[in-house]
Amino acid sequence: MNTLLTGRTGAGNAPRRAAGAGTAVAARVVDAVKVYGAGGTEVRALDGVTVDFTAGRFTAIMGPSGSGKSTLMHCAAGLDTLTSGAAFIGDAELSGLDDRRLTLLRRDRVGFVFQAFNLLPTLTVAENITLPMDLAGVPGDAEWIDALVDVVGLRDRLHHRPSELSGGQQQRVAVARAFAGHPEVVFADEPTGNLDSRSGAEVLRLLGRTVREMDRTVVMVTHDPVAAAHADEVVFLADGRLVDRMPSPTTDRVLERMQRLAEETEGAAGARDAEARS
Ligand code: ADP
Repeated sequence: MNTLLTGRTGAGNAPRRAAGAGTAVAARVVDAVKVYGAGGTEVRALDGVTVDFTAGRFTAIMGPSGSGKSTLMHCAAGLDTLTSGAAFIGDAELSGLDDRRLTLLRRDRVGFVFQAFNLLPTLTVAENITLPMDLAGVPGDAEWIDALVDVVGLRDRLHHRPSELSGGQQQRVAVARAFAGHPEVVFADEPTGNLDSRSGAEVLRLLGRTVREMDRTVVMVTHDPVAAAHADEVVFLADGRLVDRMPSPTTDRVLERMQRLAEETEGAAGARDAEARS
């Protein structure tokens, strides 16, 4: 039985640091190009993006709809492959890994939080949190998981099923599960997309606290300037390109940058149309 359920801690579970932790860059892509389709239906979702995601920081990826945010996250996290360029988790170049090694890397070194919680309804909160370790057949770091349970505020819900929890509580379970295996980086794709603003803010504060107090690394895709303002830095995409980075963001500054980006994108599209017509 898992230690989280028995309350045992310690024995044989000395805290371990993930391989590569402590390096300055948790994940990065270099000259990343992703093309969907071919010929007349070709879409260049990423058009030469180079970006580092610094270890120990909370980075938000922002940009207008269709700018390539999800594609960047999926390729950086090894959920999808680049057409050209390279993606690294720590020092591991993802295209150099066969399917089995890529699966192991995602399992052991990367955590995920999705918009749709993705909890297993038949398992309790405790079992959902430790599921990745249980599937992998590894014991997990009981002290670390215990600390996580307190950080996410779910101590009194450990034996409940997801259906007995609010959306915000379910996403907090997903956050604990994402960090449970000490991943080098947690990727979050619109983690507040299904939540009301109060629960969303709680989840964002939680991600921020986990980064700052527990020395974790988070990369979050969002289209919401309020969400992005919780990050340490925002990287902006437009038309598949990295167009700006903003340290210490505020909601107002992110909103203003997004508005300018929309104008610039429209301006560029207008100029292209005019050129095509002439
Ligand atoms: P964002 O997350 O910023 O909204 P996406 O990364 O989802 O942007 O998409 C970037 C571009 O790639 C868009 O034009 C989108 O329509 C296209 N795209 C994304 N996924 C696919 C796919 N599987 N097949 C074809 N085109 C896709």
